[in-house]
Amino acid sequence: MLKGIGVSAGVAQGTAYVVAEGLRSTVPNRSVRASEVEGERARFDAAVARADAELLALQEEVRENIGPSQADIFAAQRLVLGDPFLREQVLRSAAEQHINVEAALSKVFDEYTRRLETAPDGNLRARTADIDDVRKRLLSALAQQGTLEGPKVPDGAIVVSDELLPSVTARLELDSVRAFVTERGNRFSHSSILARSLGTPAVAGVASAAGKIRTGDRLIVDGVAGVVFVNPEASIEREYDRLAADLRSSKEELRHLVDLSSLTLDGTTLPLLANVNKFSDTEAALLYNADGIGLYRTEFTFSIRSAFPTEDEQYEFLERAAERMHPRKLVLRLVDLGGDKTLTYFPLPPSRNPSLAERGIRLLLRHVDVLKTQLRAFLRVSARHPVSILVPMVIGIEDVRQVRQVVRQVQAELAAEGKPFNAAIPIGAMIEVPSAGLMARTLAKEVDFFSLGTNDLVQYVLAADREDETTAPYYQPLHPAVLHLIDSVVEGARSAGRELAICGEMAGDPLHTALLLGLGLREFSVAPRQMLEVKDAIRRTHLGEARKLARAALDLGSAAEVEALLHEHRPIRKYDAPVSGSKTLLDF
Ligand code: PEP
Ligand code: MG
Repeated sequence: MLKGIGVSAGVAQGTAYVVAEGLRSTVPNRSVRASEVEGERARFDAAVARADAELLALQEEVRENIGPSQADIFAAQRLVLGDPFLREQVLRSAAEQHINVEAALSKVFDEYTRRLETAPDGNLRARTADIDDVRKRLLSALAQQGTLEGPKVPDGAIVVSDELLPSVTARLELDSVRAFVTERGNRFSHSSILARSLGTPAVAGVASAAGKIRTGDRLIVDGVAGVVFVNPEASIEREYDRLAADLRSSKEELRHLVDLSSLTLDGTTLPLLANVNKFSDTEAALLYNADGIGLYRTEFTFSIRSAFPTEDEQYEFLERAAERMHPRKLVLRLVDLGGDKTLTYFPLPPSRNPSLAERGIRLLLRHVDVLKTQLRAFLRVSARHPVSILVPMVIGIEDVRQVRQVVRQVQAELAAEGKPFNAAIPIGAMIEVPSAGLMARTLAKEVDFFSLGTNDLVQYVLAADREDETTAPYYQPLHPAVLHLIDSVVEGARSAGRELAICGEMAGDPLHTALLLGLGLREFSVAPRQMLEVKDAIRRTHLGEARKLARAALDLGSAAEVEALLHEHRPIRKYDAPVSGSKTLLDF
């Protein structure tokens, strides 16, 4: 993973094309006699005229093909080129030092660049690329090399370069460029502005990118987080496939729901949050207007490294995510390792049944250093943002008590170091093991909130491995046993006045929405791409009727019967069929 600055949001996967064009041509450097000075002056003026004609042509072309503001870049470059002070300086330096104009203009431009690079204003610093571009064009004109051609980039490539000069980007077939990665530049660089106007993801400021990346390398450019993965592992590719799907998903006919609230037919507004796995997923969460992050799985940060991430590495992206989502809430889950989630640098003892071995909080409590490091990062984020801590794989009150004890230790350490944090940070338990569900009422006394993780809960209630295709027929989220357990968790949470969210995949299927609402769930956290469909289902549900539906489901004997019931009472979408005068089509 190479780090830089995300200068144009979005993510792209593809093949690298390294633009290996040397930024500065070699400058011919020779002494000139007094008799040659006049000739040098004429050469310089001719080169300026030629460069100006090229820039004018480019300006017109870009105005037509891209837009007037991008074309202005070249108008500004023409101003630099035509600056009488520049001409005077170059010619004076050539005459006084008896050097050719190429050498003289390089010295003058070096001085310009040096001054701009140390300017406090980012906008001014970004102008260095223009100065470089003009210098290069002039040198090329002096060498009579003809116009500067942009490199031929293969279709769909990710362009990697030390720096993208405006004249090069203007000549690229931009529609076929999937993303940009540059060593230099910042948010204010022309290439960044251009990338944003094209909607092309870009990461700038990636040290030695053009050296570390080779043409043909497989890249993931995360323009949201500002990172680039070079030849990533399949699991990282999958993670980004998912985000790409999140960003482009959502049916056209549901788009109008983005700005509407999750309001039931009887007027109850419910929070609809997003599940995310990494910082750039917040882009998708914001795209669909999530009310917050209901589940921030933190395993990704651990899986992309070759050693445990440091506190600062964890803090960096969590803080940025919290900032992005502010003032919306963020539920940060402690890393849930073990089971199917393994790390190469943290081998776990072989187990005949990893799902029933050490995982989640059991593992963290045996590796308190890992737990403490993560808690320090979470608590530091809590200083300025409404974050809470979610504990995975809780089986009973002892887990929670032990975590609380470690939280107190970490808080004392942070306080001693003068680092701020929220002393009353909410701590919640995942309800994903049947014991925790059955103990919900008691557990409620120890935690501030619950989150229902049906992915694991279903596997443990029905003894059906969630990862194994042979047990897939037995993995039934709608099994009445699962529904009864959910029902009792809702009851336990309600009687103790604790918030209960649902964040398992089950919550993302709109077929289940009315049933889950009927069972009493009032906060949904789903994958971003599922948000609009779930919102649509919420907006078609009447809570009173949903309750009747849930009662009916609880009386059934199998998942197949429950599923049939849900299909039977599935609210019809407005665009599927004309709606009758009744408020709802859930009819009993
Ligand atoms: C769950 O188990 O439902 C859950 C949300 O956690 P994960 O899928 O990460 O195990
Ligand atoms: Mg789980």
